Amino acid sequence: MCTFADQGMPHTYVVRGSQNYLVDLEKETCTCPDHARGHTCKHLLAAVLLERGEKKAVQRMNEAVKAA
Ligand SMILES: [Zn+2]
Repeated sequence: MCTFADQGMPHTYVVRGSQNYLVDLEKETCTCPDHARGHTCKHLLAAVLLERGEKKAVQRMNEAVKAA
């Protein structure tokens, strides 16, 4: 199960999966290996959706994260 935690900083989220990854929407960065390889990773996408308040989309994204 993947969840988000508000870090008290705007545009910054922690995506909790098998590991915790820090997503910074301002810099469009994530600490996961996928992003390090130059991909726009699912964590970043999920955080973008979360920021837009598209909760249903986030739920779908969480399902995708769980399946990955
Ligand atoms: Zn990521």
